[in-house]
Amino acid sequence: MGFFLRSILLFRSLPSFLSFCCYALHRPVLCLNKGRLREKLNETQNAVFSQGHRDGESGDHLLPSAAKRIHCSRAGAARGRRAPLFPPRTKGAKMAAAAGSGGAAAASVLSRSRFRGCLLGALLGDCLGGGFEAFETVNLAELLRFVRSLQPPEKERPAQDRLAPEVNHKTSSPARQEGECEDLHQEQGGYTDPHREDLGIHFYSDDTAMTHSIVRSLLAKQDFDEVDMAKRFAEEYKKDPDRTYGASVITVFKKLLRPKCRDVFEPARQQFNGKGSYGNGGAMRVAGISLAYSNVQDVKKFAKLSAELTHSNSLGYNGAILQALAVHYALQSVELNREKFVEQLIGHMEEVEADDKSVADARMLGYEELPYSKRLKKIKEFLEQSTVSKSDVVSELGNDIAALRSVPTAIYSFLRCMESHPDIPEDFNSLQRTIVYCISLGGDTDTIATMAGAIAGAYYGEEQVPRSWKYSCESFEETEKLADSLYELYCQRI
Ligand SMILES: [Mg+2]
Repeated sequence: MGFFLRSILLFRSLPSFLSFCCYALHRPVLCLNKGRLREKLNETQNAVFSQGHRDGESGDHLLPSAAKRIHCSRAGAARGRRAPLFPPRTKGAKMAAAAGSGGAAAASVLSRSRFRGCLLGALLGDCLGGGFEAFETVNLAELLRFVRSLQPPEKERPAQDRLAPEVNHKTSSPARQEGECEDLHQEQGGYTDPHREDLGIHFYSDDTAMTHSIVRSLLAKQDFDEVDMAKRFAEEYKKDPDRTYGASVITVFKKLLRPKCRDVFEPARQQFNGKGSYGNGGAMRVAGISLAYSNVQDVKKFAKLSAELTHSNSLGYNGAILQALAVHYALQSVELNREKFVEQLIGHMEEVEADDKSVADARMLGYEELPYSKRLKKIKEFLEQSTVSKSDVVSELGNDIAALRSVPTAIYSFLRCMESHPDIPEDFNSLQRTIVYCISLGGDTDTIATMAGAIAGAYYGEEQVPRSWKYSCESFEETEKLADSLYELYCQRI
């Protein structure tokens, strides 16, 4: 009963509520996808760890490939948390122009806009990518129809909303000197979209739930505190378990919730017969670390520790370090040079991956040494080509739930989409293009899109977050508040 009351209160309109009910009735079928993806990863990890290294073979053959994935007409991956793929539209609504055309200019350095852009970009990727999760291939036309359907009727939008994004950007975010923080109490407009209730809401998954837990912990403790963070992960799961958490991480949460748990890293170390998980769960939630620490060594250190609470295999936590570094450099860049950006990441990852455990874990999984560094070099190679097919991207960089086969994909997607893409309409801005491109790759769409969205949002700022997309996502207001508080914390530190 509580579930239905909560649903009615959340939707507050009959069409949206009925639509949600239809979705909920199909939950048993739709939720299979994520569960099966995760089961596949667990099976894969167990298989890898029981077989050990096989000389001369890449671990890729044991990872859950897109080709082996679920063949389901509509991969609503969440357990009843997602709104329908195509939410009900306002009667008479027409397709409105997207928030703006291409252009890869960054927002000003250290603006609140970039902090909001980062967490909102991550939210958009999670909420909008979820409906396509586990598709072997994504039909681009269907995907574009879906994101176009998020647009509210233009005639109902306030005049300033119809301005080109560049105009909005210039008027709301004046360029600032590096190191300068803007007014923390700048007015934000306060526009309430009258059609939001009728547009349908797309729910977030474990990616956002855990991202928010990390941010709340950093804000509460004003620093990294592994005990508090672990407690928040576990309690958030206990409070709201229906966010498509993987079975393996749930066992970690249950151990963390035991009163006798003294070492919060121990449950993760016990996973997979002591080898630890190498999934992308540590990377998908790490953006807040890059928004809390300005020093790159702090970013690396705390990204690793935050990931190790659930992912103790180096292939798992090194992916979180790489994702945190990507957000860090995107946040710091004024005019991002793609080659230099990748070179910076390679420089860090060659050092990160040189330690004994990383070398041993890579060998055990059948990978060459420095596997992240190798994929970053592949990204560089891809960027030198004017076009790269999606099948090449998926086969070389991956679209799995393994961190090694999703974090590099997110980074590549961001960098590739700094420029226009022949498959994506010109009226989409760079952030929109990044998210659409990630989702179009199929596989673990919500997590790859949330990681790419965080990087892109940290670079472009909230000016590139379309109002209609944002208003379609659950808890965007809360996300904005968390971003604002992190911005204040960041400014206090520098
Ligand atoms: Mg998810």
